[in-house]
Amino acid sequence: SNARAAEETPAPATQARPIPAVLGADLEVPVKGGRLVGYANLDYAASAPCLEPVSAAVTAALPAYSSVHRGAGYASQLTTARYEQARHTVRAFVGARPDDAVIFTRNTTDATNLLAGCLPEGTTTVVFDTEHHASLLPWPNAVRLAPPAFPGEAVRAADETLAAIEGPKLLVVTAASNVTGELWPIAALAHIAHRHGARILVDAAQLVPHRRLNLTALDLDYVAFSGHKLYAPFGAGALVGRRDWLAAGEPYLKGGGAVRSVGESAANVEWHDDPEPRHEAGTPNVLGAIALAAACDALTATGWTELVREEERLIARLRAGLASIDGVRELSLWGPDHPRVGIVSFTVAGYSAREVAEVLSGEYGIGVRDGKFCAHPFVRHLLGASDGGCEDGTASAVRASIGIGTTQEHVDRLVSALRDLVAR
Ligand code: PLP
Repeated sequence: SNARAAEETPAPATQARPIPAVLGADLEVPVKGGRLVGYANLDYAASAPCLEPVSAAVTAALPAYSSVHRGAGYASQLTTARYEQARHTVRAFVGARPDDAVIFTRNTTDATNLLAGCLPEGTTTVVFDTEHHASLLPWPNAVRLAPPAFPGEAVRAADETLAAIEGPKLLVVTAASNVTGELWPIAALAHIAHRHGARILVDAAQLVPHRRLNLTALDLDYVAFSGHKLYAPFGAGALVGRRDWLAAGEPYLKGGGAVRSVGESAANVEWHDDPEPRHEAGTPNVLGAIALAAACDALTATGWTELVREEERLIARLRAGLASIDGVRELSLWGPDHPRVGIVSFTVAGYSAREVAEVLSGEYGIGVRDGKFCAHPFVRHLLGASDGGCEDGTASAVRASIGIGTTQEHVDRLVSALRDLVAR
């Protein structure tokens, strides 16, 4: 039979697609003395540029969109199907279990706050001081742990702290630091959390643009991430994970779509107990979800081996270049050899981070980030600075972050600009 023939014929090796292009690669930027074609965007960790296939998917969805979930018309049906397909794509992209909820949010911050509103009564959250504020701040009852001196210390601290807590508990940890790019031991932390009856939320905002994430294999309970760091435009992110807390939690927004029925009084409102409608009241960001899913598809189609190989080549070149300049100090929690994604933060002796960033932009057409990267306690720790408050300019660093679209010329331009700067 045809079915048998299909079984016996080996599937053709799926051809990985080439790394897609990003929009804006030939952006012209004003620099001292003229204009320069070819902006060196080294600020991917803040927001990554849009991939061409993402732009194409949005453009394709524009001519026929309408309301989701409610309309009977053709455009409505098409839009609903595309929105729900985007949910499936996101589920597969993070390797979620079949019964996990996939809730579209605005971004990672929105996702962590959504989960914070669904914690069972009396939950204690354990979180390291190394987190981005999006993962550090939303928790009503948090125990904060000092930055661990090495990865095993993170596991030990989580172990001891979780063992001492009664009642429901949640461990929150980043998969890849937005300050140092360092990878955290999330599988070991998930194991420890579960041994103490706790759940784990992984902030994957800086991991998913750089590495494959498999929620099931790592045995994570929740992951959160943002589309705009994953080569899609702004406005869509996701919270993925176990349904029960989300099904019982207070609806994140109250309004249309989240309810099954509404009676004459507040007591007569019946909320959906499926997490997706329950927490997605109002007209959702359908084009954002389509863009996010197109980015997931584009990365998967290219293949992680190829993406990681290219990124590691460029980040190694960048770090070697930085290390060769006297006065440039790279920041790291766990030492220069600990694995990391394409993010590196550093200081330049004799210059404030703001001065460095302004020179790089104004004279060399290079975009980096400077400051404390929404991780004030962590950056202060790395710089050995005292708590100077949010506006303390001395406790700041420069961050260069790379991804698809970064070229060797961008990396070399940054290194030679810094070399020029320290020689002035
Ligand atoms: N978590 C990490 C590790 C991040 O790097 C960021 C972004 O800066 C966030 C959370 C917050 O992401 P968003 O601003 O998209 O909510």
